[in-house]
Amino acid sequence: MNINENYQNLEESYLFSTVAKKVNEFIQKNPEKKVIRLGIGDVTRPLCKAVIEALHKAVDEMGVQATFRGYGPEQGYDFLREAVRGYYAKRNVQLELDEIFISDGAKSDLGNILDIFSKDNTVLVPDPVYPVYVDTNIMAGRKVIFADANGENAFLPLPDEKTKADIIYICSPNNPTGAAYNKEQLKKWVDYALSNKAVILFDAAYECFVSDEELPKSIYEIEGAKECAIEFCSLSKTAGFTGTRCGYTIVPKTLGKLNKFWLRRQTTKFNGVPYIIQRAAEAVFSENGQAEIKENINYYKENAKVISDTLDKCNIWHVGGKHSPYIWLKCPNNMTSWEFFDYLLEKIQVVGTPGSGFGKNGEGYFRLTSFGSKENTLEAMQRFEKLFR
Ligand SMILES: *Cc1c(COP(=O)(O)O)cnc(C)c1O
Repeated sequence: MNINENYQNLEESYLFSTVAKKVNEFIQKNPEKKVIRLGIGDVTRPLCKAVIEALHKAVDEMGVQATFRGYGPEQGYDFLREAVRGYYAKRNVQLELDEIFISDGAKSDLGNILDIFSKDNTVLVPDPVYPVYVDTNIMAGRKVIFADANGENAFLPLPDEKTKADIIYICSPNNPTGAAYNKEQLKKWVDYALSNKAVILFDAAYECFVSDEELPKSIYEIEGAKECAIEFCSLSKTAGFTGTRCGYTIVPKTLGKLNKFWLRRQTTKFNGVPYIIQRAAEAVFSENGQAEIKENINYYKENAKVISDTLDKCNIWHVGGKHSPYIWLKCPNNMTSWEFFDYLLEKIQVVGTPGSGFGKNGEGYFRLTSFGSKENTLEAMQRFEKLFR
């Protein structure tokens, strides 16, 4: 046998392990100091009441002969796909049930979708970026090129007609930068994709953080997107499902064979999300569920506002925070990302994530997140003000 040598081309990521190592070393040397972690990339608020009730009810059903369920449809139960369809309809996006595919999360689908594309496609990925897009394509041996996100374009790169790409990744609101495209900007990407016969893989994992009515939450709010885009979304950040696992992917039938091929791929290699979890996901889209998840999202958003306001006061350039749990700041005094990491840890014991870990354009930048507690976020920002004002 021959192994997949492409795996040798993956770059080792030491980002989070190095962060953990440095923090542990600091704590050992300074046990009396309180370290505040604003580098958390995971939700911290518990599941909402509507979800817990739905989970309990579904568990009970599984223990009764009349309501027990075995294998479900690979692409998800109709009750959940109807709920997703209703959610999109609220934003005037009309979907058919068989364009909606339920899965165990966006990360799996983002990787698995590549099964239905040829290996010789060129892939365009923004830099800095969520590492999954690059690594899944390297594993398959595809050529990856980058779109530069930087201070000049406020970390929202636009298409360049000279660049030829077949598969384009867009994540908006973005991880790690928190920057969100407006409709005009997204329209440029849709037009580029249509004229180049490219496909956009749109990651909407943070759509629920968008509160400005003018900003798109779905790429299908842009004219022409159903002819060129697949959308990935997840209840992970929306409803705290990072450990519960449920997401959905939209493959419009206007994309031709892609819809049929994705159905075939899923029915062949995937056997569906647990019934219990799909009932929990359905509850997220109920009236109570929507109101309850908003409370958690607002909690994170208030933290983000505290961070963003403090950075304003300290004259530290940043993007994100408004429509995202992430705040992406320029390291003061031209420090590198890791210099700033060490400086913050040493001086005020605040931990964030060095931007250089997300791509070369991340050098000199730093990511803070609003997933911490309100108390810790406030305290960390008081320390920031003392140090930088
Ligand atoms: C958290 C996150 C996801 C969600 O992944 P799941 O597998 O659904 O938990 C997707 N994309 C980005 C950019 C993320 O940060």
